[in-house]
Amino acid sequence: MPLFPIKRSQLSPGEVLCSHCTALCCRYFSVPIETPTNRKDFDNLRWFMLHGHVTVYVEDGTWYLCVYSDCRHLLPDNRCGIYDDRPQICREYSTSKCEYDDPGLHERLFETPEQIAEYAEAIFPPKRTQKRPEVRRISLPIVS
Ligand code: SF4
Ligand code: SF4
Repeated sequence: MPLFPIKRSQLSPGEVLCSHCTALCCRYFSVPIETPTNRKDFDNLRWFMLHGHVTVYVEDGTWYLCVYSDCRHLLPDNRCGIYDDRPQICREYSTSKCEYDDPGLHERLFETPEQIAEYAEAIFPPKRTQKRPEVRRISLPIVS
């Protein structure tokens, strides 16, 4: 099935967009997180991202952690297996602003732990390197 087999504008009256979708919205969840402000915060994000398919993105100034994992009730034909008992958040979600044909652009997007680490390296001053111990100079008496 192509990702977007039909345009929204091509829907017949009464037709449901979801019946043409691979259930994109049932395959991840994202939660807002506090804006990282120091190296430790970024290192924690890096740790989150080491756990499988996890991304971090920024939208309208808010940072989000996004975890890609299919809902356990998603059926092989992309329908909901607990439709009558689905969580409220699923009931409130609508096709009007869903990601069906969303290009997935964000203000910022970090897809790997390496990217978040590189970003932190770029925005914070270099880590202080340990000072090398001074070499003591010893004057020896000159014997003539
Ligand atoms: S709400 Fe949008 S993303 Fe979710 S299944 Fe329907 S068309 Fe797909
Ligand atoms: S409960 Fe149903 S609608 Fe909600 S995420 Fe799971 S499969 Fe999708």
